[in-house]
Amino acid sequence: MLELRNIDTYYGNIQALKSVSIDVEEGEIVTLIGANGAGKSTTLMTICGVTPARNGEIYFKGTPIHAMKTDKIVTLGICQVPEGRRIFPGMSVLENLEMGTFLRRDKSDIQKDIEYVFDLFPILAQRRNQAGGTLSGGEQQMLAISRALMARPRLLLLDEPSLGLAPLIIKQIFEIVKKINEESNTTIFLVEQNANQALKLADRGYVMENGHITLADSAENLLNDEAVKKAYLGL
Ligand code: ATP
Repeated sequence: MLELRNIDTYYGNIQALKSVSIDVEEGEIVTLIGANGAGKSTTLMTICGVTPARNGEIYFKGTPIHAMKTDKIVTLGICQVPEGRRIFPGMSVLENLEMGTFLRRDKSDIQKDIEYVFDLFPILAQRRNQAGGTLSGGEQQMLAISRALMARPRLLLLDEPSLGLAPLIIKQIFEIVKKINEESNTTIFLVEQNANQALKLADRGYVMENGHITLADSAENLLNDEAVKKAYLGL
């Protein structure tokens, strides 16, 4: 579904991604793990066209997207939930969800989709008229994921959804990510520093260090890999 081929991305003279190649098959949950500053967020920004690649190619369902603008990429079916949630704090939960439908061509089933995300996250239904900025960190993450779902993505890109959240909330959010993957056949590409949780959720994983992909394997093999255990799982 998604193919990155030898991607180089720069910030000025600084090369953040170095010949990165990643594949995500339709229906999978794939995770990209790595330390702070490894280049994980840059990978997502490059896929979305926010920080375009200087070299290399990206294909989504066979269509080259590396030279496309972000709004076009979104209309093709890719949606990102950025790090730090970035909901609209002054808008209500419902208004935030409506913003997620902005680029959608088919506006017919919006109400049904709002009910779907309220079903996934019942707390958001209770808080539908409350300003986004008054929600807890976990609830804001739920809203950020829900807003992305309102665009009806076929591929959902998640940037560190666990960041700064309590273990119980992380567990709850990861379970719902699994449900989204299974119930609506949404393919998931998950960037995480929380390698343990991410690998338990994912089918396959990539390890990134200093802008390079250093390991690629099934999530199960990565969980049992001695180098991964030592560097990322604290074992
Ligand atoms: P984190 O978990 O902290 O988000 P990351 O793995 O997502 O880390 P990136 O944010 O992609 O890493 O950063 C990769 C490299 O690019 C780092 O060296 C970072 O300092 C640099 N970088 C990121 N954004 C910019 C920017 N806007 N301008 C210049 N350098 C940047």
